[in-house]
Amino acid sequence: MDVEALLSWFYENRRDLPWRSDRTPYGTWISEAMLQQTRVTTVLDYYPRFLKHFPDPESLASASEDSVFKLWEGLGYYSRARNLMRGAKYICEHFDGALPSSPDLLLEIPGIGPYMAGAIASQAFQVASPAVDGNCIRIYCRLHALPLIPSEKSTYNEVYERVRKDIPSDNPGDFNEALMDFGSLVCTPKSPRCSTCPFATECSANLLGKQEDFPLKKPKKETPVEEHTILRIFVGKKILVRKRPDSGLLAGLYELIDMPGHLENHEVEAWVMENLLQGSKECSSEPDIRVLGTSKHVFSHLRWNMLGYEIILPADTTIAKNASQLGELVTMKKYDTLAFASAIRAYR
Ligand code: SF4
Repeated sequence: MDVEALLSWFYENRRDLPWRSDRTPYGTWISEAMLQQTRVTTVLDYYPRFLKHFPDPESLASASEDSVFKLWEGLGYYSRARNLMRGAKYICEHFDGALPSSPDLLLEIPGIGPYMAGAIASQAFQVASPAVDGNCIRIYCRLHALPLIPSEKSTYNEVYERVRKDIPSDNPGDFNEALMDFGSLVCTPKSPRCSTCPFATECSANLLGKQEDFPLKKPKKETPVEEHTILRIFVGKKILVRKRPDSGLLAGLYELIDMPGHLENHEVEAWVMENLLQGSKECSSEPDIRVLGTSKHVFSHLRWNMLGYEIILPADTTIAKNASQLGELVTMKKYDTLAFASAIRAYR
């Protein structure tokens, strides 16, 4: 890798990002966590808002999970938010409230893996530490025509070793950031801009005319599909919600009533009769049910195909009591403060 050429390209083309202009170890950590699996343009909105509410590890460590999740709402992968809270507590307990500069010590912090430790150490503390992610693997595999599969450990080790040899000790942070920007702006996964690339004449994949063949692609597995029925239920002016368990998919987030499979209108009606109207004076009248339509959400490993219904029931103590067996009836004011999974955005 021609490091000088990469850095020259970076100084002319680098992106103006808020966590760069006011670089701090804490801000670097938060931005790196947000950028995992999320596009830079999305993070631009979330980052300043998050920093305003939680400006340091101490404020984040003492925050309630609901308040952190609310600020995270829409970013997805909520385990990142939970890890940041756990990490903040660890930093307060073990490092006196300040992130350490050593990659080894950073790795002790819950939620910080090798890539993030390298990124924080190099960008915030100028420690020559590789930060190897998918971008970096793609660039090195193309430059050297390495026939490697990105998700394999041996690929990571091979690229890490090459980056370790290349990373300059005088400005390692710029080097890692340059790789990041170069992978996002020039050596993109599809249709890389080889005609404007400073490495065009030395890049093995380009010389072979096989840029998109590197790195190798892992054979795709079919994504499993689950069907869900989502019920938006009003009892008077309140709405029925429930909190998901503390572990597993979408842990700790709020949801509407969610049932497996796609229920038909008459099945929803029977369910409402049995679970909500039972014992009430409304049990002989037909519930007001409206179809909200279908929507889908794709997780990294799973797809949900959803069908939604809205059910409007009158304010009634027996119905409210039945509803409390299924979840919590909340006012619309409280509803707006709760963090919901973006998977059910279409029905909120
Ligand atoms: S020449 Fe093309 S494939 Fe090679 S590093 Fe540059 S952009 Fe990537």
